[in-house]
Amino acid sequence: MSHPLTAYLNPQQALAVQLPDEHALILAGAGSGKTRVLTTRIAWLFATGRVGPAALLAVTFTNKAAKEMLARITAMMPLNPRGLWIGTFHGLCHRMLRLHHRDAGLPATFVILDSQDQLAAVKRVLKALTLNEERYPPRAVQHFINGHKENGVRAAQVQARDEYTRHLQQAYLEYEVQCRREGVVDFAELLLASYELLQGNEALRAHYQQRFKHILVDEFQDTNRLQYAWLKLLAGPQSSLFAVGDDDQSIYAFRGANVGNMQDFQRDYAVRHVIRLEQNYRSHGNILEAANAVISHNRERLGKNLWTEESAGEPIRVFEALSDHGEADFLVDEIGQLRRDGIELGDVAVLYRSNAQSRLIEHALVQAGLPYRVYGGLRFYERQEIKHALAYLRLVANQEDDSALLRIINFPTRGIGNRTLDILQETARGTGTSLWQAACSGGAGRSAAAVGRFVQLVERMRQLGQGMPLPELVSLVLDQSGLREHYRSEKEGEERLANLDELINAAAGFVSEDENDLQAFLANASLEGGEHEARPGETAVQLMTVHAAKGLEFHSVFLTGVEEGLFPHENSVSEPKGLEEERRLMYVAITRARRRLYLSLAQSRMLHGQTRYSIASRFLDEIPQQLLKFLNRGYAPQTFAAQATAPARAQAPAHGLALGMSVRHPKFGIGVVTDHEGGATGNVQVNFREHGPKWLAVAYAKLEPLPD
Ligand code: ATP
Ligand code: MG
Repeated sequence: MSHPLTAYLNPQQALAVQLPDEHALILAGAGSGKTRVLTTRIAWLFATGRVGPAALLAVTFTNKAAKEMLARITAMMPLNPRGLWIGTFHGLCHRMLRLHHRDAGLPATFVILDSQDQLAAVKRVLKALTLNEERYPPRAVQHFINGHKENGVRAAQVQARDEYTRHLQQAYLEYEVQCRREGVVDFAELLLASYELLQGNEALRAHYQQRFKHILVDEFQDTNRLQYAWLKLLAGPQSSLFAVGDDDQSIYAFRGANVGNMQDFQRDYAVRHVIRLEQNYRSHGNILEAANAVISHNRERLGKNLWTEESAGEPIRVFEALSDHGEADFLVDEIGQLRRDGIELGDVAVLYRSNAQSRLIEHALVQAGLPYRVYGGLRFYERQEIKHALAYLRLVANQEDDSALLRIINFPTRGIGNRTLDILQETARGTGTSLWQAACSGGAGRSAAAVGRFVQLVERMRQLGQGMPLPELVSLVLDQSGLREHYRSEKEGEERLANLDELINAAAGFVSEDENDLQAFLANASLEGGEHEARPGETAVQLMTVHAAKGLEFHSVFLTGVEEGLFPHENSVSEPKGLEEERRLMYVAITRARRRLYLSLAQSRMLHGQTRYSIASRFLDEIPQQLLKFLNRGYAPQTFAAQATAPARAQAPAHGLALGMSVRHPKFGIGVVTDHEGGATGNVQVNFREHGPKWLAVAYAKLEPLPD
């Protein structure tokens, strides 16, 4: 008899949920219930007593997805999330390293470097090695290091065939030494160190292999080689690996994701249960049909067929703006309308291919007073004042943390200049110690007294803070460090002060299983990255890159910048593999929508400080015409290219908005028509008194002619 937990599953899903304790691969398209199957299986394993919470490990990619996973499980059964090994690869590796830091050769106080801290660390390495930053751009070096780590390659193992690579290798070597000295660990290191720990320590490996009877992986198509190798080390002879994935949604090849892991897994574990799910429960028919049509242009596929019982639903709306500003204006108008129609803002997503696109959209949303949240873009924790506060806290936690020290030794200013820092760095290098040690030894030249005071300050915060509850400690550090005072006197410091207060709130709301609250809090701040959580009750438009949207779903989705060069990205179009990955990304984007999908593009947009003219994305052409509804133009997308280049200004203004006429716009107020193109379905340029010149779609803009 089937278990009540499977009541809301189709037969294939129910089968997958109740598979015996053996390896299994669920291979299925977007929205077919993979994540639902995975979470239901976890609940089922617990509920039927097949396994206790301590003996199960489940992993996914983003914090948001991990939280979602946990929420779905706890909705099905009461469960204490503490002690559960459910999280992201980075989060779980971090936990393992904390538990076994000694075996991993790490100090108990090790701190996680985020990407910016890592960049700063790389810069210091380059300086120490006197490698020219122009020839060896820090970002490229950072990329080199991370790329090798993600492939499990240590600095000493890099195959350097030419001098340039040898220098990069040298930087990597020096970087490893520096990190070890400072007791800091970057993101890629979390995984590599955890992998090496399991590999090199037989007893520990045996312990975990016996412990984890069930290992479940969501989004398996995006695991890289190291992640798969880590999973293989964790899975013992008695463990069952349960992987769910969709090869059509493999979108991290550029970061080393290896979709081949799916086939390798089947082979390595002689997987007997390969289950395909073909019914899509997420999207209306038109959306699904568009997704299927686009992805069918890819050659490298395992092949799947998705169908839905849902009706066709609405057509896919296409809006072509004249400029990126026009696109942003369209978005906010439309989102405002959706809100008036009763759609929750939190159920509306704006997606973009590249992060840089978000700025204008954010701006427009702010102007329109629409609350929004950026996912994956480090909002709160990226703010300067938060970075500074965290650096103080990091230094309180671990004085050897050079990156933290460098960030705040002279912030707020206390008369410690670059010259002093150079001396400190030389001393530290000379004696092979941290900057903190160098500062304590008094070797700081003219500014020795100022440096001494800084050392005392940190020491005092550390002593006062011992045994103090976390929020009080944060508050103490904000006061003692002078950060509060500094921002109080700053012209626009009000918002920053509010952010600092919010950090105390974050500390107050933080629950950890760790004995050392501060460590856990800091680790959480780095790990959470940009996934800024909405406050309870607050609903906001969701902004994110297509990459960050993987696994999520929304009532309405706006996919912006559907233009050649942007999406597909210009760097990808020259080789078929790159283009296929872009197409998978497009497939991911389309399949995020449940009910309504907008595709928007702009004829011109500012890129790298220059106006660029674009044509519609080839992916738009790959969607069957009958599924599309053009909101502002009556022509087919194939002619976009011609439209973009042809002089379009010749037509007479059939809309009656003559040049020089005064008009009123509901949002921009009063202005004068200064240019037009494209007739009644076209656009006019209006120079607004308060907002300056803007191109607007006549059909859309609700312009009201004013008597002279
Ligand atoms: P993606 O590939 O995008 O990660 P997925 O395969 O993981 O998608 P889910 O997110 O698990 O799909 O499911 C998609 C939607 O369909 C969810 O809203 C889920 O609750 C719903 N769903 C899945 N299976 C069923 C079912 N049998 N009956 C009703 N709704 C379902
Ligand atoms: Mg999923």
